[in-house]
Amino acid sequence: MPLDAESDYARWIWHNDGYPRPNWPLLYEWCTRNFDADTQNSIWNTITEEWLTGIGKKLGDSSKLLQTEHFNILTDTPSNTHDRLVRYYEKSMFKAQEVLGDAAKGPALGRDAVIVFSNPGEYYDYTSYWDPGEGEFGGSAGSFIPMDYGQIVVNYGSGFSIDTTIAHELAHALVSHLPIPSWLNEGVAQHIELAVCGVGGPILDIEQITKHRAYWNSQTIQAFWSGDSFHSSGDAQELSYSLAFILTRFVGQDFKALSEFLNVALFDDAGDAAAKQVLGKTLSELVAMFLGDGDWSIIK
Ligand SMILES: [Zn+2]
Repeated sequence: MPLDAESDYARWIWHNDGYPRPNWPLLYEWCTRNFDADTQNSIWNTITEEWLTGIGKKLGDSSKLLQTEHFNILTDTPSNTHDRLVRYYEKSMFKAQEVLGDAAKGPALGRDAVIVFSNPGEYYDYTSYWDPGEGEFGGSAGSFIPMDYGQIVVNYGSGFSIDTTIAHELAHALVSHLPIPSWLNEGVAQHIELAVCGVGGPILDIEQITKHRAYWNSQTIQAFWSGDSFHSSGDAQELSYSLAFILTRFVGQDFKALSEFLNVALFDDAGDAAAKQVLGKTLSELVAMFLGDGDWSIIK
């Protein structure tokens, strides 16, 4: 259906720092109120394409909008990278859905939006609007931004592996509707990296295990349960990702248990009630399987 951009939805799209910044709640309300269910998807795609094309104009002539079954990918990376982007996003979606089962959910309308920046300066410029803070492991390889139109943004020039970044951030996007604790969110993202790319997760040699056992105690574990330690730096951050991977592995011995756990785990108690319900164990008992005896319980 052709729309008159001047009179229909354009009034809810304004510019900030040269980027179009749509008011998504108003657009969603307008779209679902005025069109029947069959038409809403195509209208939503029209709006999304216009928004991404607007960002592409800011990025310059080399930008291109790649459309796949599940994604609208805007990128200004060289054209010889496009096939790989398309292939990895679709492959990641297929694998992630297989691992996460019915815990995975895409957007209510349209396709997932992805923006791949070749220039780190533009990546940080664009994402600073939401001020997501430090990326994972210091410099940021990518982020999933849950606000507004949930979107995956990738810093192609960061030097990190593009393949694992795609898998990791897509996992965050697919579970973003769930009120899960940070450790589970980061654990799942690393497991999807491993499932898609065949690499990912911590190297668990004697040195690492010794480091874990020296670092964690009844106090430091609290920042892990609250999610704060994922935003710190150095050992605290690295060991948090590592422990998140290990605990998620304990939970997800089979995909069905992981999916069930994701669907009932709550941020407020770090998933403790869900662990008792699905696994018949407290989180403290789960941690003890790796770190040994100790008081690993959550202080609320
Ligand atoms: Zn993450």
